[in-house]
Amino acid sequence: MVSFQPSLFEEKFFQNRRIYFKRDDLLDVDFSGNKARKFYAFLVRDFPHIRRVVSSGSNQSNAMYSLSVLAKKRGWEFIYVCDHIPSFLKQNPIGNYAKALENGMRIFESSSREVALEAFLDSHTLHVKEGGRQKEAEEGVALLAQELVCDVAREHVENPYLFLPSGTGTTALFLQKHLPFKVYTCATVGDSAYLRRQWESIEANVHVYPTILETHRKYCYGKLYRELFEVWKTVQTETGVTFDLVYDPLGWKVLIEHLGMLTGTPIYLHQGGLLGNTSMLQRYARKAIML
Ligand SMILES: *Cc1c(COP(=O)(O)O)cnc(C)c1O
Repeated sequence: MVSFQPSLFEEKFFQNRRIYFKRDDLLDVDFSGNKARKFYAFLVRDFPHIRRVVSSGSNQSNAMYSLSVLAKKRGWEFIYVCDHIPSFLKQNPIGNYAKALENGMRIFESSSREVALEAFLDSHTLHVKEGGRQKEAEEGVALLAQELVCDVAREHVENPYLFLPSGTGTTALFLQKHLPFKVYTCATVGDSAYLRRQWESIEANVHVYPTILETHRKYCYGKLYRELFEVWKTVQTETGVTFDLVYDPLGWKVLIEHLGMLTGTPIYLHQGGLLGNTSMLQRYARKAIML
């Protein structure tokens, strides 16, 4: 059976406050971050009939890359459907897209992803929902919760709470379900109502839903904002840790806005995604808003 060593739990200081980082970005060289936790069940369970995995999503998604690693480890074929691949990217593959192709991913373009994907479904095929929003994610995320419980006890963290930015919200949901302390999150895809609907689609018990923190202004998912880039840069300079450029800049922005109001000791979950930074940095550079 494959299993992870617990990821690093480290004490840091940010804006003169004690804060802890749970470093899931360092979980493993190839299979790391929250996608490794969410796909853990697909890595360790027996799938005697499965020969391939299919999924869909964006052309630079972290989930896509992690599925390519999973498929490679398990000897499965990997088919991925996305709506559009810019010709610039096809000619100059970088980031998650390039690495997933190196791992043998077969990628298809279709404006109706789910329909295109259905053509590949049969009894030998495992279908992983976009971003890994499914029940199976609970197994690996519950292990992460257990690690956190041990980390907090070992380091004597007083009155801890966890913060992490959400996409589908699957990681935050299952963490709150398995943690004895509070989990705060924010929506990066859509608004808070959308995030709640994502939770409702996989978990009926509303009492285990995390607490959503709101931002003052609205940000569109995947868009570039000078303001968020500056936050990302500040965190990097102050803590010496590089975070992802899709979810974490907004995550940190929201956490900073609320830090003064929340009681207890914050733990920020580093959910990986650093491979995607090459393409995000390139986009920021092209827009000339990099500092
Ligand atoms: C996928 C991802 C998220 C969002 O995870 P959800 O479980 O969908 O909420 C956050 N951060 C990083 C770095 C990710 O790769």
